[in-house]
Amino acid sequence: MDAETARFTIAEELERICASTGHSERVCAPKSEAGWLHALPQAAAILAVKGDALAVELTNGVFADTFPEGHDGFVCTQADSGLDWTARVEKFYASGRVSDSFEICREGRLGAEFLACTIGRLERDDQGPTRLLFTAIDRTNERVMEKNLRRELLSDSLTTLPNRTGFGEEIDDRLKLSPLTDGGSFAVLAIDLIRFSRVNESLGPLAGDELIITVAKRLKSSLRQGDVLARIGGNEFAVFARLNNGLSDALYIVQRINDALASPVRLTNLQISVDCAIGCALSSGVSDDADDVVRQSQAAVKIAKRSGKLEIYRPGVLKEAHRRFTLESRLREALANGKLHLAYQPLVHLQSGEVTGFEALARWDDEELGEVSPAEFIPVAEESGLIVPLGRWALYEATQTLAKWDRQQGQVLPLGISVNLSPIQMGRDDVPSVVEESLRYAGIAGHRLTIELTESAIIADPDKARQVLAALKSLDASIAMDDFGTGYSNLASLQSLPIDLLKIDRSFVSGMITDRDKNAIVRTILSLAESLNLHVTAEGIETQELALALQKLGCWQGQGYHFSRALPEADAFDYWRARWNFESV
Ligand code: C2E
Ligand code: CA
Ligand code: CA
Repeated sequence: MDAETARFTIAEELERICASTGHSERVCAPKSEAGWLHALPQAAAILAVKGDALAVELTNGVFADTFPEGHDGFVCTQADSGLDWTARVEKFYASGRVSDSFEICREGRLGAEFLACTIGRLERDDQGPTRLLFTAIDRTNERVMEKNLRRELLSDSLTTLPNRTGFGEEIDDRLKLSPLTDGGSFAVLAIDLIRFSRVNESLGPLAGDELIITVAKRLKSSLRQGDVLARIGGNEFAVFARLNNGLSDALYIVQRINDALASPVRLTNLQISVDCAIGCALSSGVSDDADDVVRQSQAAVKIAKRSGKLEIYRPGVLKEAHRRFTLESRLREALANGKLHLAYQPLVHLQSGEVTGFEALARWDDEELGEVSPAEFIPVAEESGLIVPLGRWALYEATQTLAKWDRQQGQVLPLGISVNLSPIQMGRDDVPSVVEESLRYAGIAGHRLTIELTESAIIADPDKARQVLAALKSLDASIAMDDFGTGYSNLASLQSLPIDLLKIDRSFVSGMITDRDKNAIVRTILSLAESLNLHVTAEGIETQELALALQKLGCWQGQGYHFSRALPEADAFDYWRARWNFESV
């Protein structure tokens, strides 16, 4: 539209405004310009542009009250956010447009005030300056209502904390209100309550709610003024914190959070200890997108859940998280479709060279991902719960294989089978029943089965471990302590548990020839085992030299690449048959 021909008379312009604001009846007769303005219920003014400057030519009373000369403090919202309203009018003038509307706001004494403004060019016959009609109508109530509604959408009803969406907006608002200074940064900490679902399952959702509320209060009390706490998931909280001293500030907050959650929470008549994993992400520059940092902290907390310690986000973690996600869904499919298999690594009697049995190790050769190492997929299975079906499958498969070998040879072989048991499965599954069933299906005697577990399985829940081990012993199965030396078992607890075998971790064995400390550790474990009347298997024997050294030290059994890698079922059987009549190490 051509700006020159489309100018309005003030009467037309006012009528238009009045109609749009529901006050048409008040404009009943032509009046002077001043009369027109005063008839309006909203702030209105005629502005004139003289040279570069904007001058107020005529105003009504509401305008004079709302825009006291020089210090009204109104700035634009939305697209021109922060721009002074007079500058916005000048921008309109420069644009050559006929009319325009925009919103302005200011921090008033009673909170934010919002005005909806219109601006239009007025027609004139003489050659004087361009005149503009400006009106502003109060929109504060609508905006406050909208804001309250939004707040409801953006907050968690249980704790009244911001939810995931609200958290992102809150961070954006804070950073807009007082931007990061040069060298300043912020951190987002994601806090995951590790065993929360168990509380929900065993004590009911009401108890779960109570726990969440208590944790929210404790977290809140551990924070500094200006930090923002949010509940970003069912059992996940997050904290936004400005950092003045970089990472050390963040570590200090983590310390405070850990302290706040250290004492157990009392629920009805139970004391629940609150275990949490914390992941931290730091902003790297002023332009960082808050949402990205929140996502990074969530990726870090996923890792923290596995590692059991605070994790700081590193670039590449998101890729890792994606890989884990892919692994999890492919593994679920592989398990359902029987695409996993077991490999069998011989266990060799070090004095006689006899093969006494095999350790069953899970193998997964995926069509898309290729061969995936158990060191990668077992943790994924543990985190996702897939370890329960996986562990059951391994038990059934391993005992079936042993039964099959017996059948092939036409006799019960002098061989045992070792199966790994994850602490997660120990906690969640009815392990004794699964073991009993798999032995019964295969028709294998219990004493031919060894269950390998790590110290963490016992530390996680000692009472449960004690029960499970006792039940396994009553099935005649043997218990091996896997990766021995890497955990923190105190020896006393070992003594009171029905353990038959220690497996010295590879990390001590492979270095024992050259590293005196490792050598001493191996010797200590061997003499400890002797005094506790336990058998010992050395893992990771890669050379004959090691095999001989361990044999001399009186170590009972060995396992490692020097003897053989883990082999496919048929190869493992051939390996045993070829050595049946014993050979020397
Ligand atoms: P692990 O129980 O300590 O098993 C021994 C690991 O050491 C195996 O790795 C084996 O292949 C490897 N190994 C054996 N001898 C040597 C050697 O001389 N040198 C070296 N460098 N490595 C040797 P793998 O098969 O990759 O398994 C890794 C871990 O995954 C196992 O450690 C075990 O904790 C877990 N895992 C494997 N299969 C299962 C399963 O069916 N259930 C559960 N719960 N965990 C499993
Ligand atoms: Ca093992
Ligand atoms: Ca091991």
